[in-house]
Amino acid sequence: MIVAFVETLDGVLKDVALETVSVAHRVKETLGGEVVAVGAGKKVEGLEQLGKAGADRVLFVEDERLEHAAQARAHALLKVLEGKDVRAVVFPATKPGKEVAPFVAAGLSAPMLTDIVDFSFEGEALVAKKPLYAGKVIGTFRLEHPVLIFSHRPKAFAVRRDGAEAPVETVQVEVDPRALRVEVLEIKAKEKGEVDVAEADYIVSGGRGMGGPENFKLLYDLADALTRLTGKKVAVGASRAAVDAGWMPHSHQVGQTGKVVSPELYIAVGISGALQHLAGMRTSKVIVAINKDPEAPIFKIADFGVVDDLFKVVPELTRRLKERAGE
Ligand SMILES: Cc1cc2nc3c(=O)[nH]c(=O)nc-3n(C[C@H](O)[C@H](O)[C@H](O)COP(=O)(O)OP(=O)(O)OC[C@H]3O[C@@H](n4cnc5c(N)ncnc54)[C@H](O)[C@@H]3O)c2cc1C
Repeated sequence: MIVAFVETLDGVLKDVALETVSVAHRVKETLGGEVVAVGAGKKVEGLEQLGKAGADRVLFVEDERLEHAAQARAHALLKVLEGKDVRAVVFPATKPGKEVAPFVAAGLSAPMLTDIVDFSFEGEALVAKKPLYAGKVIGTFRLEHPVLIFSHRPKAFAVRRDGAEAPVETVQVEVDPRALRVEVLEIKAKEKGEVDVAEADYIVSGGRGMGGPENFKLLYDLADALTRLTGKKVAVGASRAAVDAGWMPHSHQVGQTGKVVSPELYIAVGISGALQHLAGMRTSKVIVAINKDPEAPIFKIADFGVVDDLFKVVPELTRRLKERAGE
């Protein structure tokens, strides 16, 4: 059986779960067996949709206590997998995925690879590619073991949508009380309606060049125009300089000490392109840079560059996108 960890949050199936299942389906093409999507936490609607991405069935442990407790969630997963012929377990390299995967790997006494962006097979050994040294080089790793455990970078793999809905089974497991020792006291929800950079199709990011928090409105307007024109999920990101200055919350930071993203489109506005920023976004499919300094390092990795004042370029771009959208 090929297992895909199903990421859910507060009763909502996360988009990345479809990608994880799609990756598991790709593993099945070589190793065979069935793809079983396994999750744990608060009751979630719509789990049958995972079948479209390639899950043969879905097992879900409904237990609210597991929602934010990584060790307990991992423990529940291990209970579900007990005695089964597990050949691979795939996780997303997201926060919950990163927290749960090591517990599961330890529980199955298996090695683990993290944050891979591509893979193939040599016989039954996994040969995976993974960015290293802040994305400066791509390492190739070979994993040969009866149980292959790895996490994939979100947005690095295509999502399958051609399958049929999968049967969903709710399972009960006895959770070890020792795994429930961590109690979550408070969770601060982010502003309603905002797209998370880790989940966005397109990201418009601002840096020190934005000059102040009030100017991020320009980026929100641009993001809004892009959404209206394309229907894509567009998020506003920020460099660490903008976050450290208190212009944007840390949850928007892209980079080595922020979030690692791989959107279809990344527009860097007033961002110089320091190594630590590139580490978080260089695997974006198309990169556009808007910067008044033609020597800014961001242009070295940009597919398209605009050398000009962002305060001129961004409003004009927004205006033209709105015009295209017929507004
Ligand atoms: C351990 C460590 C971890 C780090 N982690 C991160 C991280 O996760 N993410 C991150 O981003 N950084 C990170 N950094 C910081 C990083 O090194 C840079 O300092 C930071 O990315 C710079 O942000 P910036 O590009 O917004 O600012 P700057 O480097 O100051 O660049 C501002 C750019 O704006 C341009 N500009 C100014 N005005 C305009 C205008 N009107 N029109 C057009 N362009 C304009 C300038 O030409 C310049 O290129 C980290 C550093 C360390 C040491």
